[in-house]
Amino acid sequence: MDYEAVIGLEIHAQLKTESKIFCGCSTRFGDKPNSNTCAVCTGQPGALPVLNRKAVEYAAKAALSLNLNINTTSIFSRKNYFYPDLPKGYQISQFDRPFSEKGTVDLETADRDKEGHIEQWRLKRINITRLHIEEDAGKSLHEGMPESATKSYVDLNRSGTPLAEIVTEPDFRSSWEAFDFVQHLRRTLVYLDVCDGNMEEGNLRCDANVSVRPVGTQKFGNRVEIKNLNSFRFLQRAIDYEIKRQSEATDKGERIVQETRLWNERENKTYPMRSKEDAHDYRYFPEPDLPPLVFSAAEIERMRRSMPELPDAKRDRFIEQFNLSKDDALVLTNQRELADYFEEVARISGNAKAASNWVLNELLRELKNHEHNITQSPVSAQMLGEMVKLIGAGTISGKIAKDVMVRMYETGKTALEATEELGGGQINDTAELERIAAEVISTNPKQVENYKAGKIALFGFFVGQVMKATQGKANPQMTNDLLKRLLG
Ligand SMILES: [Zn+2]
Repeated sequence: MDYEAVIGLEIHAQLKTESKIFCGCSTRFGDKPNSNTCAVCTGQPGALPVLNRKAVEYAAKAALSLNLNINTTSIFSRKNYFYPDLPKGYQISQFDRPFSEKGTVDLETADRDKEGHIEQWRLKRINITRLHIEEDAGKSLHEGMPESATKSYVDLNRSGTPLAEIVTEPDFRSSWEAFDFVQHLRRTLVYLDVCDGNMEEGNLRCDANVSVRPVGTQKFGNRVEIKNLNSFRFLQRAIDYEIKRQSEATDKGERIVQETRLWNERENKTYPMRSKEDAHDYRYFPEPDLPPLVFSAAEIERMRRSMPELPDAKRDRFIEQFNLSKDDALVLTNQRELADYFEEVARISGNAKAASNWVLNELLRELKNHEHNITQSPVSAQMLGEMVKLIGAGTISGKIAKDVMVRMYETGKTALEATEELGGGQINDTAELERIAAEVISTNPKQVENYKAGKIALFGFFVGQVMKATQGKANPQMTNDLLKRLLG
């Protein structure tokens, strides 16, 4: 039988505030275990939480980017469960009155061939159930400590770090759609500067709910929740593995057990973690130590108006305003700093097409060679813009410019300085070019004879000789015109 996958996602995004959500402790990553803790985030009796305004502001930006409706009143709730890294015995989260609900994303997604090459982009509307605010738990350490063989350790530095939990409807039908959504979300949150979006460091964590049903039917099958997918690759592999496992089991007449499973990256398999049938009853109730979170409609409107341009809008604008191809616009807008850099080069040079070519080809190659990111580029947008302008003015040829670019990158010098160091720019002097062209003609009588006898393909030979004599610096257009005239 043919099966269709039904996939929903739950994503935890760590909001990049400097301090925790309910206390003033630092959220810095990698500090000595338990050094960033206090009475509040270690759950001491009587300690009272105070909400971090910045965390709310960041959550609001994230919610608005997903077109969610921010509730004018939302409520914090206690989610009760025991775990060694949760000292209070409950997590402060949100339950029946969450921060925001009912959003949509028009996702740019694509079907891919077996090698993962895009066949065709298409838009798919994904419904977002909610985004709510909650605190993170601490971390149990089972490895790498002095007595790890016999003991487990707890580090509470992460306890109380602000999270936005984003829950989607089960609208994805393939692992590629899920992949494209998480990419979209990651790019957007990083653009907004509200989350670092680093899955490997755990500040963007993804759970996937996966079920299958026969193609053409509406009823959902029993779903399996795959927890803690901490890379894009694992997300895809785990989903694909589950689709296959559930399809084969259903074919054999087996019942799919509703349960939580974990991805084992070494064996490329999912394993059951705990059964949902004996799942926790979290006994949510309103957090008595925090008042409801209240906004006026005017405040929400003010936040909406202060949203910056998001990646999708920027991409569409680049296509429209600069006449770029969709693929080029996608690369340029993938990172806000790169998009800003390109716009500056385009503005200074007055030539967007050339600017995009130089950024996408030469600059990105140099960055890659030097393992730099765009903010570390020794060639500023100003410098590259001026270089593109010199090419347009005919001061340097496109060919020389490639060497100029490398020299600029290595020395941090301006385009004019680098050109000077490389022995000057393009030769635009008619008299000098005419002298060189005449010499090429007089030293190659045989080719001249053949050319005049009708072998016009030889014209390229003469151009090549002039270029050789000038180390490629002859102005190509002038060289062409001169040779045509001299060869009659
Ligand atoms: Zn604290």
